Amino acid sequence: MTMRELQDRSIHCPYCGESIDVLIDGSVAEQDYIEDCQVCCRPINFSVSVGPEGEVRLRATSETE
Ligand SMILES: [Zn+2]
Repeated sequence: MTMRELQDRSIHCPYCGESIDVLIDGSVAEQDYIEDCQVCCRPINFSVSVGPEGEVRLRATSETE
């Protein structure tokens, strides 16, 4: 059960609602980072957690949440 590699995910920007493709590093269990939206350029807070079987949970929130 090793799926610990880069995974493509798409999320919706919490500001403008556009869908954005992000690349998740499945080898890191917990990640929090900020990346600007490719469409509206506002900073999105990404919160990533990787489960024991490599399943990726991704949350994207606005900076004010
Ligand atoms: Zn946006």
